[in-house]
Amino acid sequence: MSTQELDKKHIWHPCSHMHDYEEHPALPVTHAKGVWLHLEDGRKILDAISSWWVNIFGHCNDRIVHAIQKQTAELEQVIFANYTHAPAAKLAAHLSALFDDRLPKVFYADNGSAAVEVALKMSYHYRVNTGTPLRKKFVYVSGAYHGETTGALSVGALGLFKKVYEPMLMDTVEAPGPDCYRCPLGLNRDLCHAECFTGIERVLNEQADQISAVIIEPMLQAADGMKIYSAVFLKKLRALTADLGIHLICDEIAAGFGRTGTMMATHHAGILPDFVCVSKGLTGGFLPLSAVLTSETIYKAFYAPFSEQRSFMHSHSYTGNAIACAAACAVFDIFGESNVLAEIRKSGAHIRECADTIAEHPRVGEIRSIGMVTAIELVADKETRTSLPVNDRIGYQIYRYAESEGVLLRNIGDVIYFMPPYTITKDEIKFMTDVAIKSIRAICG
Ligand code: PMP
Repeated sequence: MSTQELDKKHIWHPCSHMHDYEEHPALPVTHAKGVWLHLEDGRKILDAISSWWVNIFGHCNDRIVHAIQKQTAELEQVIFANYTHAPAAKLAAHLSALFDDRLPKVFYADNGSAAVEVALKMSYHYRVNTGTPLRKKFVYVSGAYHGETTGALSVGALGLFKKVYEPMLMDTVEAPGPDCYRCPLGLNRDLCHAECFTGIERVLNEQADQISAVIIEPMLQAADGMKIYSAVFLKKLRALTADLGIHLICDEIAAGFGRTGTMMATHHAGILPDFVCVSKGLTGGFLPLSAVLTSETIYKAFYAPFSEQRSFMHSHSYTGNAIACAAACAVFDIFGESNVLAEIRKSGAHIRECADTIAEHPRVGEIRSIGMVTAIELVADKETRTSLPVNDRIGYQIYRYAESEGVLLRNIGDVIYFMPPYTITKDEIKFMTDVAIKSIRAICG
């Protein structure tokens, strides 16, 4: 049987309407290099979304390949309770340095959702250990996405992923978040003072003594359509949560490692959260690995003799996998040796310039960008900013059209976005944006 036949017979793909696969079976990829995916039938497709936002330095990046090969031959995996190894220790030092060693404690997990679960559990467990167990609520903002496991879904806002499971989720609190394209106050994200903050301010003030933590995606609400908001919102959120004794969890899983033009998106606001979750780009997109960074204060609340039973007993079999940690160390080496952030800003600006050539199209509501992310939101009416009818699946049709033209542009509803590996060249940017624009015109007229 061919790969495609075996796939069709056995595989249940993630985040997919499997019914769509009748018309469009999964495409078998045989190898990949840089921004290109090479298919079994000889075609190649430009990966404009970094394979779900994980790849940062191109597919099969030589440096990371080498680090993985070397590590695999020396030590692949070892139980991470009572044992350690150089790649994990070195990586923890790199991660801690991201916040000037002010979040010096690193707990590893193996995917983004698992890191979110760890941060939520640590936050609540801290409350138990410090005698405030009634602080057990978690607050998230509208538009939030933090993963698919039940704890992570409980602090997510997107009905598409959450609605069916509501009855089995934790009791959490949704607060109004920023919604800059459709700003209810009619303000502009580049000039405003996050006046919309009053919504969450009220929720936090009213329920402070019951809240353990607020979780937020800094600067970029990726899964909600690459929504970008002002750093002022984050600054205000940090100030208020600190005043009220509420933990701030920054989910840098999508936005971290240069994606928004700074090493961590939180750096745009110059704030120090209580917990930071990282994953995706951490290993350059090679292997699943995540980490939660936290402070000495949090850590100390768990540090006690056995008899006090205060420890964090969470574990995953693959915690601190040596090969994944070696890949992540290679990622830090690449960041350390070249001015990646400057390149990101340059290429990001170029992508934006190319995208802007379709700004006047009647279906283009907004083009927004930050660092190496540019999104085009398509609407039914530019004036009223009314969304397109969901069942028309306009974004999906554009995705399919672009794929047939050689670009993987996986839509989020009717948002078409570019989030390619940082190594994309000028010519590749031109090809990617030309195909996207041609596809939008082909479907939207
Ligand atoms: N948080 C954010 C902000 C994400 O974008 C994602 C994944 N798209 C996750 C958490 C979950 O990560 P994972 O898919 O590795 O579980």
